Amino acid sequence: MEYKVSDLPDTLRPYILPQTDGCWRWVGKVDRNGYGRSKSGWAHREVYEALVGPIPPGLHLDHLCRVPLCQNPAHLEAVTPGENFIRSMHPSAVAHRRGTCKRGHPIAEFRQVKDGTRYCAACRRELQRRHYAAQDWPTMIARKHGKGTYTRRTPEQVVAIRAMLEIGISQAEVARVFGCSPSTISEIARGLAHAAPIPVYDPKVVEE
Ligand SMILES: [Zn+2]
Ligand SMILES: [Zn+2]
Repeated sequence: MEYKVSDLPDTLRPYILPQTDGCWRWVGKVDRNGYGRSKSGWAHREVYEALVGPIPPGLHLDHLCRVPLCQNPAHLEAVTPGENFIRSMHPSAVAHRRGTCKRGHPIAEFRQVKDGTRYCAACRRELQRRHYAAQDWPTMIARKHGKGTYTRRTPEQVVAIRAMLEIGISQAEVARVFGCSPSTISEIARGLAHAAPIPVYDPKVVEE
């Protein structure tokens, strides 16, 4: 679809300078994010509505040419805010397109929480492992003895168990702390039991 600057109203036409690459550069007021401002709002939205038609409620205009000042409706696409975000340069959006988190873990590690935000489970395990490895386990074990034991092992406890083993606490001692048999601890140590479930990956939802 070809659009013409000459079809624009007087409030917009004088502020648009077509470029050789096809972009229509806005030469009027510019906001601090680099977008053109017309008298009544966003210049590109007004230009789009003047030449294409009303923007459906709730939709954003994505600059396909990646030139925020461009006003050419042929370079604009009405998209949902989510889609607009996924196409953006936000670190999470870039990670989504690259297919890994910012530390390079595969997108299969991404988990989604109830409010729709996502995080990288591999990154979180790494942080947890460091956290648990930094604990004063001998003191904590000494406190724990005589006060009963844990009956279930949550994913966090599995991370703690692995961290305890990594710093040299015996499987028998860890088994006493967590109230299970040394063979269970051995299985956890070898990654045979209590592995994290495979997440369901929903590409519609954006990370973090
Ligand atoms: Zn453009
Ligand atoms: Zn990660």
